[in-house]
Amino acid sequence: TGRLVIVGAGQAGFALAAKLRALKDERPMTIIGSEEVIPYQRPPLSKKYLLGEMEFDRLTFRPENWYPDNGVELLLSTYVEEIDRKAKRVRMQDGAVLEYETLALATGSTPRTLPASVGGDLAGVFTMRDKRDADLLMGEMRPGRRLLIIGGGYIGLEAASVARHLGLEVTLIEMADRILARVAAEETADAMRAIHQAHGVVIREKTGLHRLTGENGRVCAAELSDGSTIDVDFVIVGIGVTPNDLLAQDCGLEVGNGIVVDEFARTSDPSIFAIGDCAMLPWKGKRIRLESVQNAVDQAEAAAAIMAGGNAPYDAKPWFWSDQYDVKLQIAGFNMGYDETFVRPGAREGSLSVWYFREGKFIAVDAINDAKAYVTGKKMLEAGIEPNRAVLADPAADLKQLLV
Ligand code: FAD
Repeated sequence: TGRLVIVGAGQAGFALAAKLRALKDERPMTIIGSEEVIPYQRPPLSKKYLLGEMEFDRLTFRPENWYPDNGVELLLSTYVEEIDRKAKRVRMQDGAVLEYETLALATGSTPRTLPASVGGDLAGVFTMRDKRDADLLMGEMRPGRRLLIIGGGYIGLEAASVARHLGLEVTLIEMADRILARVAAEETADAMRAIHQAHGVVIREKTGLHRLTGENGRVCAAELSDGSTIDVDFVIVGIGVTPNDLLAQDCGLEVGNGIVVDEFARTSDPSIFAIGDCAMLPWKGKRIRLESVQNAVDQAEAAAAIMAGGNAPYDAKPWFWSDQYDVKLQIAGFNMGYDETFVRPGAREGSLSVWYFREGKFIAVDAINDAKAYVTGKKMLEAGIEPNRAVLADPAADLKQLLV
């Protein structure tokens, strides 16, 4: 078999290579990554790593020698600029070319930034995607400094939690009606808001940024949409990501919100796959894009399986987690289009779960410090079991009863 070239040395790119080797697939393989470090997991970057409680060594998927030992060539600090589908080769930023028989795009996504017209180009304005970003932010996280976080999604909330832990003053603004508006129900947002407020974060919803102002090129204040101004020492922008699909677009692959793939992670070119954050995949008759470790790994493994001669389609079973303070938020399922929620208190103080339904059908659960609800809900989703409402509604009932 000819060479597999994987563009992107992140969660999905690594998972694909590792799975193929686990399946005893021995084809030549090259992973090309634009970062200077060996593949590592991102979730701790906004959690324990940012807190200074986890070394980079513990973030890497495998030690450096795993790659040569397994015949996986790793080209770091290397950026693929062009795909030539006719000649079946990629061109890198230094002009070098590499031929492929099979190509996998695992390019991830890029944080949205603020335009320069509102001060997005000032020093002291950060986004959060890779180790470099986290290292820069760690240098800014000093007690007493004033941090403005723009965006009340997971990244913003996790950064707020770390910053409060380290003794910073934190204001978080969210343009929408409430935090977590895109990803979670009001009940989950209410619980998370209360936790952040109890830890001293100032959360201002329905509040957008008018502009950032600077002094000597460095951000010093933020004018908000309600006319108020706050002094800031630095800013984290957490307003979502866009898929890295330009390479695919430039070589004529079908692209929507991400690179369009089928249930085997194949693009419109049979020798090119796309996996992870950059891919737009079919799901229950719709096309969706998922931004999670679960999706990156499972989709990569489905791609590996078909490359190695199997044919098990990827049927996404989404799950996700977020750590904030001593709170673990766990999510199973995908709540898109929910029309009903059901809140159940958990056994521990402050713990609860939110059960999502669409047209009467159970589709997802959020669990806040309630591992039992998470595990039960996840099992039910996987087995296609509908929760018994009477059991759900009874806080004293054992959730295990839902599984029978
Ligand atoms: P990535 O891991 O981003 O890897 C893509 C790689 O490709 C990058 O290294 C990029 O530099 C490289 N690349 C891009 N273009 C090129 C090119 N042309 N040439 C060469 N290299 C290129 N998910 C969860 O499930 N739970 C969490 O708690 C969670 N927390 C997160 C916290 C943070 C701070 C971040 C940033 C993400 C978090 N995620 C979390 C999301 C999860 O990390 C991503 O969904 C996952 O990393 C996606 O994997 P990927 O391989 O698609 O992309």
